[in-house]
Amino acid sequence: MKIKMIDKLCCPMDKQNLKLTIVSKDIHGDVLEGFLYCNMCERVFPIVSGIPIMSPDEYRDFELEQPFLQRLAGNVSENFRLIGSNERAKPSLDCNP
Ligand SMILES: [Zn+2]
Repeated sequence: MKIKMIDKLCCPMDKQNLKLTIVSKDIHGDVLEGFLYCNMCERVFPIVSGIPIMSPDEYRDFELEQPFLQRLAGNVSENFRLIGSNERAKPSLDCNP
């Protein structure tokens, strides 16, 4: 995804600006892997294959995201809280009414 496009994204929860950390770029210099971090709510939104994952909490599967985020976090010096890491894992189908 183009860096200019990612710059325009804001947190879906509180509309704050997001801090972009780039882990890898493609040959055009566009973001391939990385993450967006919200200072307000401390959420982390991963960028996977150039696509920012900006879903609300209820549509995210933190268990799936965690290994990816942890791998990315190994590439940056900055510490951040992994969303869901302190929460009990929920069954993935518990959102059915
Ligand atoms: Zn936020």
